[in-house]
Amino acid sequence: MPKPKHCEAVRVVVRCRPFSRKEETGDCENILQIDDRLGQITLRKPKAPPDEPMKVFTFDSVYGWDSKQGDIYDDAVRPLVESVLQGFNGTIFAYGQTGTGKTHTMQGVSNDPEMRGVIPNSFQHIFTQISRTQNQKYLVRSSYLEIYQEDIRDLLCKDNNRKLELKESPDSGVYVKDLSSVVTKNATEIEHVMNIGTRSRSVGFTDMNERSSRSHAIFVVTVECSEVGPDGDEHIRVGKLNMVDLAGSERQSKTGAKGQRLKEAAKINLSLSALGNVISALVDGKSTHVPYRDSKLTRLLQDSLGGNAKTVMIATVGPSHGHFDESLATLRYANRAKNIKNKPRINEDPKDALLREFQEEIARLKAQLEERGMLAKERRRRRNSKRLSKSMAGTEEEEMFRERDAEVWKAFEEEPEVGRHVKDGSDFPKEAPACQRSGERLKHLKDNRKSLVDMHWDQDALEKIIEKYKAMESKLLVGGKTIIDHTNEQQKRLELKRQEIAEQIRREREIQQQLMLQDEETLEMRETFSSLQQEVEHKTKKLKKLYAKLQLAKAEVRDVMDEHVVTRQELEETQTELTRELKYNVAEL
Ligand code: ADP
Ligand code: MG
Repeated sequence: MPKPKHCEAVRVVVRCRPFSRKEETGDCENILQIDDRLGQITLRKPKAPPDEPMKVFTFDSVYGWDSKQGDIYDDAVRPLVESVLQGFNGTIFAYGQTGTGKTHTMQGVSNDPEMRGVIPNSFQHIFTQISRTQNQKYLVRSSYLEIYQEDIRDLLCKDNNRKLELKESPDSGVYVKDLSSVVTKNATEIEHVMNIGTRSRSVGFTDMNERSSRSHAIFVVTVECSEVGPDGDEHIRVGKLNMVDLAGSERQSKTGAKGQRLKEAAKINLSLSALGNVISALVDGKSTHVPYRDSKLTRLLQDSLGGNAKTVMIATVGPSHGHFDESLATLRYANRAKNIKNKPRINEDPKDALLREFQEEIARLKAQLEERGMLAKERRRRRNSKRLSKSMAGTEEEEMFRERDAEVWKAFEEEPEVGRHVKDGSDFPKEAPACQRSGERLKHLKDNRKSLVDMHWDQDALEKIIEKYKAMESKLLVGGKTIIDHTNEQQKRLELKRQEIAEQIRREREIQQQLMLQDEETLEMRETFSSLQQEVEHKTKKLKKLYAKLQLAKAEVRDVMDEHVVTRQELEETQTELTRELKYNVAEL
């Protein structure tokens, strides 16, 4: 049942990376100042006159150059992943200029436990939590895709140059047709899947950095959970976690670009500017239309922006004066995203839950096996009794059975769906690229199986089915049984303590921020003036403060307008160039 809706703002945090070695040895100045207690970041314009006010932004959290991957996970990501385990959809975006630490934050260095990023940390978190449950069954699957120049590619499919399409259905909303989804049983398996995808991202591209700076990568983990509710019926909740490493936010230079290069440059950040337009439309309060359909990225992540998901944006910036303009643009973008309101909702009993299909399929297989098992026993008994009577007719009949069984088994072997579906992540994708939607495969299998129903199976075939049935069943995770929690009591207590501390810090920061806002007003209200002179002095001071604020706001408006003019000019130039080219092409025809 849909719960009463309540609004929840997108959580926006900022992470600043340390100076790179090159910046350290060069002539670089630090222009960022971070107050993590208040969640404030201050940006100083290089070579600005001393009286020019600095740019100050407040976020849910800010992390300085010495922040640890684990701290960011505990503070910004852990609560979101907890919600995904409860059946909410959740999205984490990393947004920022190329080289500021998006991939470092999302992926990190996988062979160093301290340096693992959000994605691998979420795997550990999800499977550990599942192992600690008792009365639920889980199915965890993952997909990995890339959007490059508005084309969607499956990073888990051998044929990863195929362009996939976006589709929409009343049950599952917007989805990618034919996207692989791999069922995994533990953190090692899912990490293996991630590594395959990451490797596939760089195949065939000489400059990996250039490509990753121009494409969006989305790792999706779907956690399905079934549990018997108070009504005695089984209920399924499905949480989907999108982890998005966005393309670099820097302005693409189109100057001097012609033909293909120009078209490429115009397309590169289409999804990113569409994301910006969606954010603007959502927060300005006047727009009646939100342009989700303008790009693949915004269509795919529509739920996460003003929809029913919980969303965290991690904006990344560099500390150097050379990046002032880009850092300011990133902070402004992030600042706007703070005002997006979502209405998170648990996905209860969705029609397309794979877990339900799995359970039904397992139950059917089991019933059939029981039936066939009994039949097989019966046949063996008959065979034996016939052998005893040494009847010729019996041998003939047996021969006929054997031939027919062989045929049936061959037909089954050639129907690879069950085998494929239960493929382990561990040897994926050597044999089976699993390029179809899992649900479609099961349906196909069910249809095919009907033709087998009335045929006789021999013991061999039966045993193979049993094997497949077991493999399929092993994909359903039951806490404490299929996966064991290896952390000991002391580690668990430590973990809990860390979470409590992170929660405490979060709460303190919120209180500090509220205090800061209330400060001026409260002080004012308490103020009693002993003389007129004192009152005048006080009000003059306040006027000065307000005047400074006004100047700051005016400067901000000027900046934003200048930025718009540049963007418009660029768009006009692109349009003129493309129109000219179109005319030329038409003339050629
Ligand atoms: P992006 O994905 O935004 O282009 P990267 O994640 O590739 O940026 O980071 C660029 C470089 O900076 C990498 O060498 C990375 O290891 C380093 N780096 C980024 N963020 C941090 C950080 N917080 N601490 C240490 N090194 C970092
Ligand atoms: Mg990157």
